[in-house]
Amino acid sequence: MSLICVPIYVDSIQDLELALERARTAVSEGARLVEWRFDALAEEDGGVVAMRRLVAESPAPCIVTIRAESEGGTWDGDEMERIAAIEAIGTADATPAYIDLEVRSWGRSANLRQKMKLVLEHEAQVRDISTRLILSSHDFAGRPSDLLGRVATMAGDPDCALVKIVFMARSVRDNLELFDLLAERTKPTIALGMGEYGLISRILAPKFGGFLTFAASGADATTAPGQPTVRTLTETFRFDAIGRDTRVYGIVGHPVAHSLSPCVHNAGFEAIGHDGVYVPLPVAPGWESFKATVGELIDHRRLDFGGCSVTIPHKEHLPRLVREMGGRVDEMVERIGAANTLTVDRGVDGEVLGLRCSNTDVGAVSTAVRNALPKREAAPHEAAVVGAGGVARAAIAGLRSIGCRVHVFNRTPERLDALLDSWADVEGDGLVRGGSLEAMVGRRFDVIVNATSVGMGGGPAPEESPLPDGVVIDESVVVMDTVYDPRRTVLLDRASQAGATTIDGLTMFVLQARAQFIEWTGVEAPVGLFEARVGIGAVNPGR
Ligand code: NAP
Repeated sequence: MSLICVPIYVDSIQDLELALERARTAVSEGARLVEWRFDALAEEDGGVVAMRRLVAESPAPCIVTIRAESEGGTWDGDEMERIAAIEAIGTADATPAYIDLEVRSWGRSANLRQKMKLVLEHEAQVRDISTRLILSSHDFAGRPSDLLGRVATMAGDPDCALVKIVFMARSVRDNLELFDLLAERTKPTIALGMGEYGLISRILAPKFGGFLTFAASGADATTAPGQPTVRTLTETFRFDAIGRDTRVYGIVGHPVAHSLSPCVHNAGFEAIGHDGVYVPLPVAPGWESFKATVGELIDHRRLDFGGCSVTIPHKEHLPRLVREMGGRVDEMVERIGAANTLTVDRGVDGEVLGLRCSNTDVGAVSTAVRNALPKREAAPHEAAVVGAGGVARAAIAGLRSIGCRVHVFNRTPERLDALLDSWADVEGDGLVRGGSLEAMVGRRFDVIVNATSVGMGGGPAPEESPLPDGVVIDESVVVMDTVYDPRRTVLLDRASQAGATTIDGLTMFVLQARAQFIEWTGVEAPVGLFEARVGIGAVNPGR
């Protein structure tokens, strides 16, 4: 079992109560260890008494660290003064479970080592668990070139009880090496990647037997880049439920930090009892980084990667990779040229049996629109798709699958032409036709789907509707927005005022997530739970 450790950085003697309060809250939320960061406190007058008090009143066993500036801390004093401060803490009545010292300092001075040993072996240690030494190494620039040598040095030192290696992850792939280090450890080990690319090393520590993971007491209290909060680890990622056999899923894209997908899929896995965890997998733009990263995730047996959602800017890369790796790309994905779901089928020993990709946005649009259309009206319906990007392509396919005649409108003619070319061989009633946005003026459609980013908070035009004035909307029209942030867009507000039936982007999000969940688990998704997680209330016209 891996422990959650909350680091508490204590700025000054005035902050003791606040620091204890933060530690208590973190422990009540699931932290099992506290790391007292005394970099600043150790330099203050009266610091020793304050540090001793925090160790004595620590709500859980603690690590004491006075981190040197050279390894990301703020202690810039004399080395022997630092050891003297540690000695004052380690020889008190109540002592810490661990003292952390950088292996670089440890290796530099025999005198320092001797003083530290006096602390570690001091008879005044009264807790049932006597103080032990963590030798640590931190690199904020990236993977150290002598990574393996450093780990071997720390693990081979007879005084070292716990090895800690931390570096800035430059890619999700860096975590795989950390996982291998953990799996092959000879001593209890902490191996973590910093930054957004290192987040999975923090979440998946229990899968590989990491001794602990660090998590902040609040979003404003992180002590290293990329550190999640205790609540995020325990509630969103179900840290305590992760074990050796837990299958890993995730969302690949850039950016992915604010994705809603981990909230729904992890809750869903818990609800059906599936031993899986769903994590953010940021992958830098470009085919090469996508291929290298996802290829390695698939090939890394220990990881047991079961598949992923794929979002901007990699949806076009997914079918290409699956094809190159000999997997199955379904006909709809070939037509659309983009996929959002990868499924990796594995045998009992974790070997890859097959890969497939699909586009669950297609079924999400068709299901939402079909459910919202008046039942008595027979197809074909006239449908308008606004936009010519990846979601527009999926919307066209979804609308055609329920018998709509689809008209596509887009701001940039070249992009529209490229999209129409890919449907040029299709004949019959569902034939795709298109035009400029202005070509919609004065026309009426049974269904209108916004597949542009107009209306999206933080997007190109957050306060606007993608439709030009003069498009006919009344009670008989269904208007769907794929934008889900905000949930009620200008388009949907105006459509509701005109009496139209509206479908919001969260409804689409839940439906596409549901199809992914079924792909991976083979079990119906708890849709009500998904809706609750994304904030959809009881009234939901799209379903
Ligand atoms: P995309 O490939 O980048 O396409 C964006 C489209 O928006 C293009 O057609 C672009 O037109 C148009 N556009 C952008 N700014 C515009 C403006 N100011 N005026 C008019 N048109 C504009 O994006 P995508 O992947 O298709 O995603 C589109 C939307 O779908 C996003 O807002 C995203 O939030 C949403 N989405 C929702 C879900 C869900 O589950 N609900 C899932 C995925 C995506 P030009 O060709 O003229 O540039």
